[in-house]
Amino acid sequence: MGKQYVIALDQGTTSSRAVLIDEQGQMLDVAQREFPQIYPSPGWVEHNPQDILLSQIGSLTELITRNGLKAQDIAAIGIDNQRETTLVWDRVTGEPIANAIVWQCRRTARLVEELCGDPDVARTIQEKTGLLPDAYFSASKIRWLLDNVDGARERAEAGDLIFGTVDTWLVWVLTGGKVHATDVTNASRTMLFNIHEGTWDPWLLDLFDIPASMMPEVRPSSGDFGTTSYLGLPVGIPIAGVAGDQQAALFGQCCFEAGEAKNTYGTGCFLLLHTGAEACDSKNSLVTTIAASAPGTGHLEYALEGSVFMAGATIQWLRDELGLLSNAADSEAMAMSEMDTGGVYLVPAFTGLGAPYWKPDARGTIVGMTRGTNRNHIVRAALESMAYQIADLVKAMEADSGAPLSLLNVDGGASRNNFLMQFQSDVLGCELHRPQNPETTALGAAYLAGLAVGFWKDTDALKALRSSDDVFTPKMSRERAEQLLNGWSDAVRKTVS
Ligand code: ADP
Repeated sequence: MGKQYVIALDQGTTSSRAVLIDEQGQMLDVAQREFPQIYPSPGWVEHNPQDILLSQIGSLTELITRNGLKAQDIAAIGIDNQRETTLVWDRVTGEPIANAIVWQCRRTARLVEELCGDPDVARTIQEKTGLLPDAYFSASKIRWLLDNVDGARERAEAGDLIFGTVDTWLVWVLTGGKVHATDVTNASRTMLFNIHEGTWDPWLLDLFDIPASMMPEVRPSSGDFGTTSYLGLPVGIPIAGVAGDQQAALFGQCCFEAGEAKNTYGTGCFLLLHTGAEACDSKNSLVTTIAASAPGTGHLEYALEGSVFMAGATIQWLRDELGLLSNAADSEAMAMSEMDTGGVYLVPAFTGLGAPYWKPDARGTIVGMTRGTNRNHIVRAALESMAYQIADLVKAMEADSGAPLSLLNVDGGASRNNFLMQFQSDVLGCELHRPQNPETTALGAAYLAGLAVGFWKDTDALKALRSSDDVFTPKMSRERAEQLLNGWSDAVRKTVS
């Protein structure tokens, strides 16, 4: 019997999972461990590096034991991970110098303003990295650790400390400290990586005062990241794929070519459009990021990315704060019990509005209510707000990329909502494809690893695995869709004025 499986390690913000995948791309089993979120001060978010590690290794061990797997059964391991989260540890002992600073953490917002506030500096950063300067990205988090942990700067200058995003930390530990590497997609979220040249950028390292000796080697997403060498795990399994979670999902959705896009409807939304070999500059506050490539591509590939802060979270708010429904899935039937929202728009700008508006100070509103407005109208307006926000992002992407979107691949918890998917297709005026297997992120990590070791031959073989998507096609007249979109724009204007 040859090697029959690939394992994806899906290291998320709140849990770590290990997923067993066969040659047909079927998910045979999943083991999952949650781990604690640490909030030391308002706006600060940390993870204990050992919690990340133990939850990930725990889920992997559980999966291996439950399925009676040996090293010879597993062709490769692929890793996808929460992006931007920052760790620094000792090159020799492996001891982290502090907790990981999580992507959501705002502690470096002021520092980013100080270092990147100058418009020329901000522009240069965007040109080099594709990112708009923000505390999300790893650069300012590394700087914070060097400035605030006792002795860190001296140790870093002496070459004793190394940096990594979560993928790098996992690869380093799983290979017994042999491989200190990241992949191009994770590198592209640090704000230290020149996405055109594919190298750490000396000017950026200098700006953030980070020694180059700390930085991991940057490798293609599909390829060699060493082999497992960790007590208690089967030895010698190749780690052969690494990508940030959103880029892994893009790959898992088989968006391999320019013009192909996916949107994930979770707590927030993440929309990524593959732009091929061209790094498309955004004039609409989107970011340019590196997409994961199949082996042998020979050049970097890029994507435009936009995100929505409040998507499924708006439904949680209706459930937990307003008590309008008891279960997120009930929103579908509630929305469909009305013909429309009766003119109500809910703009969920609870934490400001992201791209393309970029109004951090905007706040949520509900407009257009009458005496006849009921809870179903409000729930429907909340679902529609997800679709409108995506329509705004798609419009911005079309303007930046110069090409209309003809098809959108969807995934994530809220993509199960058929009302939402039909409405999304209607307002976008394009087809939506929802795969049977919604676990596109883990699938992407598995695909990257499997391609690297020849478990799957090429991307055509991966496309062939995808069967019988649910397809949503526009049913609404364009005139009606435009009317609704205009109503949304009016509501947004009221929110920001
Ligand atoms: P994440 O990975 O961001 O935690 P998930 O992909 O698990 O999120 O999706 C969960 C989110 O989707 C929650 O915010 C929930 O309110 C929303 N959600 C889940 N199912 C539905 C549904 N059927 N209709 C609308 N929203 C839903």
